[in-house]
Amino acid sequence: MSITLTAEKLTAARDLARVLTPGMRATLVTHVNPDGDGLGSEVGLVHLLRGLGVTATIANPTPTPPRFKFLFEGLPKVDRSDEAVKELRRADLIVVLDISDLGRLGMLADTVAARGVPVACIDHHVSPGTLPAGPRYLDPTAAATAELIVEIAMANDWALTSVAARALYVGIMTDTGGFRFSNTHPRTLRIAAELLEKGIDPEAMYLDVYAGAPEGRVRLLAEALQTLVVEPDVGLAWITVPPGAVERHGVTTDDLDGVVEHARSIAGIRMALLFREISQGRIKVSLRSVGDVDVAAFSKPFGGGGHVKAAGLSREGSLAEVQAFVLDAARGFLPASTPQVR
Ligand code: 5GP
Ligand code: MN
Repeated sequence: MSITLTAEKLTAARDLARVLTPGMRATLVTHVNPDGDGLGSEVGLVHLLRGLGVTATIANPTPTPPRFKFLFEGLPKVDRSDEAVKELRRADLIVVLDISDLGRLGMLADTVAARGVPVACIDHHVSPGTLPAGPRYLDPTAAATAELIVEIAMANDWALTSVAARALYVGIMTDTGGFRFSNTHPRTLRIAAELLEKGIDPEAMYLDVYAGAPEGRVRLLAEALQTLVVEPDVGLAWITVPPGAVERHGVTTDDLDGVVEHARSIAGIRMALLFREISQGRIKVSLRSVGDVDVAAFSKPFGGGGHVKAAGLSREGSLAEVQAFVLDAARGFLPASTPQVR
């Protein structure tokens, strides 16, 4: 095969395998509002761990969005997110996927911090890393955490079954925006090709994830797009989700995935933002960039993070206050980068 791993990666993958013993109970956790990569990585790893005789369960801080439930077909009682704290208390090993920080584990952060069992982590975020000790497999150049799980499987000669391949493909497909974003490296496509070789159907996964929308998702998009504001001279565009709109359309916040891309799609835009209220007095901001603008660096002083071209932060205040603050900071941040010609 055409994928080679560095000596460091081989060592890290084998160190991780060494803590996995048949009969043990491993519980997998990803970030709040789990996405296709967090869930695809978890389900892919569950299948791989089962092949090793490890009992693997999933305990996430917030529920699985409906459009990813198909990943759990044939895996009854594996997603135990509704009793996550209890599940984490039974684990011999915790594996944190697609995030390296306690802060993004929501209400599970304290339990993970205090459990006293090894906490393994597989992640592709640029992050300070605040988890308890355990094996690490980290690479911020990877497009998706799922890509790293394929590498770990290869390094240890674990059999990649088609059900594992399907879940891992979903992780790579979603984190690359369907193989369109700048994180789609030759290596990403080689790994995706390995997964397709297992006989999985790319159109079926596209349909499950992107073409099974409830009507409310499209109506929510229509309403959100009405709020679009563009500042062409600075290269800023932003969209605001009207408070209560998600509930009114009978959907979930997962249905906002991709809305910010509409702001980014405007010619000349260098930073696109989506504002939404996550609770009374707390606003979440999703950021996307074009060219050399680093939204992870922009978000860091405000306690946020993510990737160079896709990041997020949350902040106390009203929608109007947080918007004024963040947009002002963005106007100050943008002139430092060279404008991109597209
Ligand atoms: P999204 O805007 O789709 O929620 O997130 C885009 C990227 O930013 C993801 O990689 C996500 O992990 C990261 N991200 C989103 N919100 C936050 C946040 O509040 N804090 C940090 N550190 N990262 C975030
Ligand atoms: Mn990811």
